[in-house]
Amino acid sequence: MKGTLFVVSGPSGVGKTSIISALMNKLENIVFSVSCTTRPPRPGEVDGVDYFFVSRDKFIEMREKGEFLEWAEVHGNLYGTPKKFVLENIEKGNRIILDIDVQGALQVKRNFDDAVFIFVAPPSYEVLKERLLKRGTENSQSMLKRLENAKWEMSKIVEFDYLIVNSDLEKSILAMKSIVIAESYRTRRILDEELIKRLFKGVSESETGN
Ligand code: 5GP
Repeated sequence: MKGTLFVVSGPSGVGKTSIISALMNKLENIVFSVSCTTRPPRPGEVDGVDYFFVSRDKFIEMREKGEFLEWAEVHGNLYGTPKKFVLENIEKGNRIILDIDVQGALQVKRNFDDAVFIFVAPPSYEVLKERLLKRGTENSQSMLKRLENAKWEMSKIVEFDYLIVNSDLEKSILAMKSIVIAESYRTRRILDEELIKRLFKGVSESETGN
């Protein structure tokens, strides 16, 4: 069985990272796709864990070599999903989680019609503002950019398969977990020749109506 690609998007500061990191400890066969970025690391961020922090030149070189599944400029920095890691894990049958912006999600949607798209929204624009202020990781210019971008991102919600309004972290984690589990029961993902043979073993042709 091939793996499934889960694309999680939503405005910066909405809580995607907290939901995803909790989810990674709760499920098996699940891997997180670490993106490349030209943004400098925030205190506590680890290279290779949170992001691969690269220079703009290196990013452009990788992009030109076709190493990204998708990429986008977000709030003045470049972000991209390494293609090789995702494709290898799809082959291995894993669930792969991408935490990317809406521009990137829409690019993935054009190329992977089987991927699952989840939008995480704040309970309101006001709450998003408060959360970004509280997080305190951005200067005021970067905050404004993130809030402006959030408006555009929210206008693309209808492009997504699932919508989680993150008013309560525990509930959102449960919602994301339920989505990921439910997707692994989709008939089209699991019904292959081997399973059909097993399910119908011992049933004569006259009994199946063929
Ligand atoms: P931050 O700088 O706050 O970590 O991330 C800013 C935005 O970039 C977030 O919405 C995050 O989901 C998005 N992002 C992170 N990695 C990628 C990526 O590989 N591609 C795209 N398109 N967006 C990304």
